[in-house]
Amino acid sequence: MRKPFVAGNWKMNTDSHSSVDLATGVARGSVELAGQGVDVAVCPPFVYLQAVAGAVSSSNVSVSAQDIYFEAKGAFTGEINASMLKDIGCTYVLCGHSERRHVIGETDELINKKLTAAIAGGLLPILCVGELQSEREASQTEEVVTRHVKKGLAGLNPEKVSAVTIAYEPVWAIGTGLTATPQQAQEMHQFIRKLLAQMYDSQLAEEIRILYGGSVKPGNAAELMSKPDIDGVLVGGASLKTDDFLAIIQAAT
Ligand code: PEP
Repeated sequence: MRKPFVAGNWKMNTDSHSSVDLATGVARGSVELAGQGVDVAVCPPFVYLQAVAGAVSSSNVSVSAQDIYFEAKGAFTGEINASMLKDIGCTYVLCGHSERRHVIGETDELINKKLTAAIAGGLLPILCVGELQSEREASQTEEVVTRHVKKGLAGLNPEKVSAVTIAYEPVWAIGTGLTATPQQAQEMHQFIRKLLAQMYDSQLAEEIRILYGGSVKPGNAAELMSKPDIDGVLVGGASLKTDDFLAIIQAAT
């Protein structure tokens, strides 16, 4: 039985005060929902990770970084490694978010190195995959998602893959107000689970959580998560409002 998982990606938003306020509000609200068996994580910008980790420390809310670098240490100006993230209380890290793929230019190979380093460093990666609108219109959705999953997980044995959560995030639905219909999302989640079964085995495929992301709001979260292969959600915009994010966590129960 896969435990529902709700993660909030704050992207490049908040400041030193509002990040702690938001984290404190989410932690308080989540404590009330804690008995209901949902994993919750927030993904603040790097500079607020430590303060947010402190704010949620006595709750069931985990902290995730939005990115990582794959080298262990050295002359990599501006980069942050797995042990630094562990050291300040991170549990999860996003790998391959569409904004890093399409705005920053990260390749599948780089994402694979980051994900591999995250696992080696004791973090739980959330691998984001998903097609552009033009790729969906050209009927390339399955091909693109297959490439993201296979290249993202390349070289990992089943034990390491069991540390990974996958987030299916169609790029055309991120921050646009457009959401995949629950049926469209379920089709892709089922497709990814079958792909994992082919790559590894059906037991592992049944254990891996697959989240949906793309304009998730309190009003559409419950229906999306009612689908059999949608194990939770990765939320952007709506995770910046305490009440909306708590309503989405509530929907996961
Ligand atoms: C995201 O950042 O991963 C995301 C899904 O954003 P939004 O919910 O705003 O579409």
